[in-house]
Amino acid sequence: MPFVITDPCIGTKDTSCVDVCPVDCIHPRKDEPGFDAATMLYIHPEECIDCGACVPACPVAAIYDSVDATPRSQKDLVDANSIYRQDDSGAVQAAEALATKHVQEHPDLMAIDPKERQAAHT
Ligand code: SF4
Ligand code: SF4
Repeated sequence: MPFVITDPCIGTKDTSCVDVCPVDCIHPRKDEPGFDAATMLYIHPEECIDCGACVPACPVAAIYDSVDATPRSQKDLVDANSIYRQDDSGAVQAAEALATKHVQEHPDLMAIDPKERQAAHT
């Protein structure tokens, strides 16, 4: 489980990371089903090659470079990244359920502008 997208992506979802990922392991892309409905984007844990290109590309610092580096408040989204599979509707629903629950359980973080949210991670 390498790189992890966290909650500053929620409300941003600009796909800058998709544009720089050399192995197309971040989904859903804008041209894929479910993009509009997706709460956030997710990194496929087995396809990611740990290149790091997505981290500086993200305008809101949503991406951590390891599970260990991911703050406690974002651990549920580690699970969401690990579950999401673009071609598996059940997996999409399960990951989205975790992301939706995260939003409901963190009104404090969601009230912060996405650009400032990462600084508030605990
Ligand atoms: S670390 Fe590299 S391979 Fe992994 S999601 Fe980011 S850009 Fe893609
Ligand atoms: S660049 Fe950051 S905010 Fe944009 S889609 Fe990727 S993870 Fe989300």
